[in-house]
Parts: sequence; C-alpha cells; structure tokens
Amino acid sequence: MRIDFITCLPELLYSFFNYSIVKRAQSKGILTINVHNLRDYANNKHKQVDDYAYGVGAGMVLKIEPIDSCVQNLKKEREYDEVIYMTPDGEKLDQKMANTLSLKKNIIILCGHYKGVDQRVRDSLITKEVSIGDYVLSGGELAGAVLVDSIGRLIPGVLSDETSALTDSFQDNLLAPPIYTRPREYKGMEVPEVLLSGNDAKIEEWRSELALQKTKKFRPDLLT
Ligand code: SAM
Repeated sequence: MRIDFITCLPELLYSFFNYSIVKRAQSKGILTINVHNLRDYANNKHKQVDDYAYGVGAGMVLKIEPIDSCVQNLKKEREYDEVIYMTPDGEKLDQKMANTLSLKKNIIILCGHYKGVDQRVRDSLITKEVSIGDYVLSGGELAGAVLVDSIGRLIPGVLSDETSALTDSFQDNLLAPPIYTRPREYKGMEVPEVLLSGNDAKIEEWRSELALQKTKKFRPDLLT
C-alpha cells in the first residue's frame, strides 16, 4: 500500500512514521509513506500556501492552487483509490472504515491547517472526508497519523501474528476481554484460573463471555 501525505507541516509527521507498527510496515516493504510539503507547490516567492478567508471573520485558509498542483502531480504517476481530507466534519473513523481502507492500494491524505482548506478543494479533489472525533485539532497531521496507524496494523503481513488484530476491540462489535501476563499472582491479585487450564475451548468461552459483559457495561450501543 502507498500513502501520500500532503501537509504544510511535514516535520510533525516524520517522527511518528519512524516508530512502531508503521515503521515495521515500511521496513517490510508492505507500506510506503511519502510526505509532500505543500510549500514546494506554492508558485509565489514567499512559498505562501494560505490566504485570508473571503467575508468577515478571522482565520487563514489553505489555498487551492498548491493543493491542486500536488494532487495532479501525484495522479500523473499512478491511480489513487481515495483522496482523503482529514476534517472534523467528515465521516467518523471507526474500525470498519480502517478495515476497508487497509485493502486499498494507493491513497492520498490531505491535512488541513488554520481554518481548513478552500471549499473548492473539497468539491473537486476530495473523494472521502474523515474525522477522528468530535473535537477540533489545530491541524490534520495528528489526525492523519491516527488514520494511518489504524490502517497500517490491519494490512496483511504487518503484525507478526495476524490473528491479533482480529481479536481487538470493535472487530466484531465487541470490546476486547481482559488480558493477563506473568506473574501469576501480584500483591494478592490472581490471574483467572481458566486461563491457566490449558483448555482452549473453555478459554475461548470465557473470553467471549467477558467481552460480552464488558460491552454491555461500557458500550451497549455496539450491541444494537
Ligand atoms: N474550521 C474547521 C471546522 O470548524 O470544522 C476546523 C479547522 S481545524 C482548526 C484545522 C485542520 O485540522 C482541519 O482542516 C483538519 O485538517 C484538521 N482537524 C482538526 N480536527 C480534526 C478532527 N477531529 N478530525 C480530523 N481532522 C481534524
């Protein structure tokens, strides 16, 4: 899978892509991430990519020209399955969306800044708008990184044990059951006996039951 990020603050993304699962996916050659600095596509002396909003009100807006130029440049090289704009008024990211996007070949992720991007970018270039929650961040970089992390760990071959992602919360509309590791007893707190029984069927039954109980208690909405 190839992901092209378009941002006016590339520095915010570099460290994130050099650690953990996303780094592993890239080292294995399963995921390629390219970060494009919007300022490289500005056709003015000061590399300005934003301008004042039309009408009254404060705040700068990312201009359409550099974004269009960057997107067209990328599209000349390959076809893209999605051109995604990270925005608080987009479709809310969930595990289902991450599963679907993890099967795509090439995607572009556009990070907004300031008040956002000129509406004509959204009307003419964007195929999908994604929000990571009902709150407003200063820029789309962190939101885009969240999206890439959620997708990256689902791409076949990225996790050393692929079944691990399948047993995470939300994969089957349930929260994940409790998990334990050594020591067997800590300050009087014991690991549930069933997990030490070696009986796979019983362990599976226990996990399903606990996942259901936890979901009923904390996220009953997932069960409806
Ligand atoms: N004026 C916009 C609004 O009210 O919807 C908010 C702009 S926000 C300050 C700047 C940029 O941060 C957005 O263009 C978007 O790329 C990103 N952003 C902020 N919150 C986000 C969220 N919850 N999900 C995804 N992207 C977000």
